[in-house]
Amino acid sequence: MFADLHLHTFFSDGTFTPEELVARASQLGFSAIALTDHDTLEGCDRAAAACVAARIEFIAGTELTAEHADIEVHILAYLVDTQNQVLLQRIAGFQAVRQRRIREMVGALNKLGLPLKAEAVFALANCQSPGRPHVARALVKEKLIGSLDEAFDKYLKKGRPAWVPKTKMSAMEAVELIHQAGGLAVMAHPGLNRSDEIIPDLVAAGLDGIECFHTKHSTTMAERYLEFAEKYHLLVTGGSDCHGFSKQKPLIGTVKLPYEHVQKLKDKVAERKR
Ligand SMILES: [Zn+2]
Ligand SMILES: [Zn+2]
Repeated sequence: MFADLHLHTFFSDGTFTPEELVARASQLGFSAIALTDHDTLEGCDRAAAACVAARIEFIAGTELTAEHADIEVHILAYLVDTQNQVLLQRIAGFQAVRQRRIREMVGALNKLGLPLKAEAVFALANCQSPGRPHVARALVKEKLIGSLDEAFDKYLKKGRPAWVPKTKMSAMEAVELIHQAGGLAVMAHPGLNRSDEIIPDLVAAGLDGIECFHTKHSTTMAERYLEFAEKYHLLVTGGSDCHGFSKQKPLIGTVKLPYEHVQKLKDKVAERKR
C-alpha cells in the first residue's frame, strides 16, 4: 500500500480536475492521496467524493506559501478541519493577495506592450487561487507569446520585468494556523529550498513533519531528510507534486510513499485530540 501526499488540481495551478486526478491515482493503485492545492481547500470536497467512489483514502490538505529568514518556504497542511473558520478566513485573505498580484503582473505586462487583461487570466484560472502559471497560460492563449517557458523566461520569473514579489506570512504563523485547525504542518520539498539551516527554527515552532520524498529529490537528498526526520522526531511524508499537464507530463506515480507514514500522520492527529 502506498500514497501520494502532494498533488495539485485546477483549483490552483494544476490542470486536472479532482475527478481526473483521482482516476489517475486509482489506475496507479494508490491507497491514499492528499490534495495540496496552493492556498486553497476549494477542491477538497470534490476530491473526497471521487475518492469514496474509487475506494481511495482521502486526506484534505493545502500548501501554504510562507517565509522564514527571507527564505520562501512551502508548508503543507494535512488532516485539517476544512470547515475551520479561522483557516478559511486566512485562506480567503491569501487568495485576495494572489488576485491583487495577478493585477499587478498584468499591469506590468501592459506597460511592456502586451495587451493582456486581468479578467482573461481570472477567466482562464477559474479558481480562487490564481498564480503566475495562469498568467503564462493566458499569454499563450491570447497568442501574445509563443510558450509557457518563454513567458516565464522573458517576463514572469523572479527578477524579470513583470515579476511581482509575493507577500507571505511567516512560517511560524503558518504552523500555528494549521495547528489551530487540527492539522499537521509539514515542510514541503526542503531539497528545493537548499536552506536546511532554517529547519531547526521550524521544528522549534512546532513543525510536525518533513517531505523527504519528492519528484525533484535525489536519493541522496531523500536520505539526508530522513536523517533530519530522525534527529528532530519529525513525521516523514512524500509526494509527486503533480500539476497535471502543466509543463511536463503528469508526475503522479513518480513517488510512492509507503502507507505506514500515512498511518503515523493519523496517529499523531488522534493523539493530539486525546
Ligand atoms: Zn511547493
Ligand atoms: Zn506543490
